[in-house]
Amino acid sequence: MGHNWINGEWEQGNGKRLEIKNPATAEIEETVFEADDLQVKKAAESAYLAFSSNSWRYNFKLRKKVLEKAASILEEKAEKVATIESIDTGKPIKEARVDVEDVVHCLRYYAGLIPDSLSKTLKMEDGTESEIKSEPIGVCGLIVPWNFPLLLGVWKLAPALAAGNAVVFKPSELTPMSMIEFTKALIEAGIPDGIFNFVIGGREVGQAIVENPMVKKISFTGSVETGKRIYQRCAEDLKKVSLELGGKSPLIVWNDVDIEKTAEWAVFGALFNQGEVCVAAPRLLLHQDIYDPFKKVLLEKISQVNIGDPLKEGTEFGPLISESHVKKVTAYIEKGLEGGASLLYGGKVLAEKKGYFIEPAVFEEVDQSMEIVQEEIFGPVITLQSFETKEEAVELANGTNYGLAAGIFTESSERGRWIAERLEAGIIWINSYHTPYVDAPWGGVKQSGIGRELGPEGLISFTEYKHVNKSVSIDSLGWYQFKR
Ligand code: NAD
Repeated sequence: MGHNWINGEWEQGNGKRLEIKNPATAEIEETVFEADDLQVKKAAESAYLAFSSNSWRYNFKLRKKVLEKAASILEEKAEKVATIESIDTGKPIKEARVDVEDVVHCLRYYAGLIPDSLSKTLKMEDGTESEIKSEPIGVCGLIVPWNFPLLLGVWKLAPALAAGNAVVFKPSELTPMSMIEFTKALIEAGIPDGIFNFVIGGREVGQAIVENPMVKKISFTGSVETGKRIYQRCAEDLKKVSLELGGKSPLIVWNDVDIEKTAEWAVFGALFNQGEVCVAAPRLLLHQDIYDPFKKVLLEKISQVNIGDPLKEGTEFGPLISESHVKKVTAYIEKGLEGGASLLYGGKVLAEKKGYFIEPAVFEEVDQSMEIVQEEIFGPVITLQSFETKEEAVELANGTNYGLAAGIFTESSERGRWIAERLEAGIIWINSYHTPYVDAPWGGVKQSGIGRELGPEGLISFTEYKHVNKSVSIDSLGWYQFKR
């Protein structure tokens, strides 16, 4: 059996051989083959034909049934899928279990939004009646990164399929395995041939999807750099596009907080999933009154983080995704030191372990213009900065090109609201961090992206509006007569 699901059949990829490594051991877990150009073309064509047959887009009951059944199948094999996800990505097993739970919830949420709850009928002022329908776009290309392969995949797939589209899906070349399991669940749930196509590969396969003329929308999650390239390419064909990109989120701590509890949140905000999270908050902005005591508690807590085998219960921090990512993160640590920042803690590669393990690093005496403050490292590198006033906190928080998320910790709800109103970010948590809510929009401003996932907004992004205006009689000239 191959690992690419194209037009209702498993196919061995005719492209490059990929060795999928376990980042905790650096050993090869699986070998798969990328789809080649012809297979991507075939996937897009089969999606187009399946969509054009209308058997999916007009069959609300079938769409609902397939999504609900896929959710139940996944729920039954949750532990198996969580284990695959943990091995593939290096994330601690308890986090992988939460991902699978969230995926099941997301599938049921979008199944619940079918049939088309987005359509509405309006009585117009000239006496005619208008139906505003949101229709599927057609073939959608869905491309996701390696940090949450299953969760981010389903954040796109569930609304795309619920809205009645056909899709060509591409996981990251580093982490395809959990989505292969999900593909099996969709097949068992009765997804019609051609409606869902799964192709494995990296940049070239992604480009082939983006460039395919049958594909009418690209929904991409990944880095700003790749997002910009995709946006430019989509502009050539005026293809619809939504982009969920990187971040460098701040976490603002006021002087009225419980230091112990807030430091716990700060560790979680910055180090969850090894800091390989788009909304990670590695920029800690601390009120000057609590800077020293907060720093002390924070460093204690970071030193107690349980680093180790992601499959072992109790592990809180696993390996980074790859050797090249370890190199990228350590290069940023070097840049921080060269730039004059002071390394308070960690940053060492844990060479005694077999996999791609690195200690979290904490810097202070950083300048807002430094690369370690400005650029997304996508790893466990924390910077500490202090502020005196709320205006200063907002200025530091907004002082990067990103605008994905932010956190505010304060006892005063009025202050929390004041700061939230002024932050340039798509998602803001007050006295909390990280939770994605399936019914609320997710996405960023500035260079963190275009469009929103989750919630009804996530469904709307996979639809086109159609306005059908109906006159009861043809006896008058309608608008023309009405306006005279
Ligand atoms: P990446 O941009 O390198 O790759 C993302 C995906 O795009 C992969 O599947 C890759 O194979 C594919 N790809 C690469 N080049 C392509 C091209 N030219 N055309 C089409 N597809 C192409 O990102 P990554 O390193 O896999 O992921 C990390 C990035 O993802 C970080 O910047 C992170 O912040 C971002 N991210 C954002 C969110 C969000 O919700 N905003 C969530 C998770 C991750």
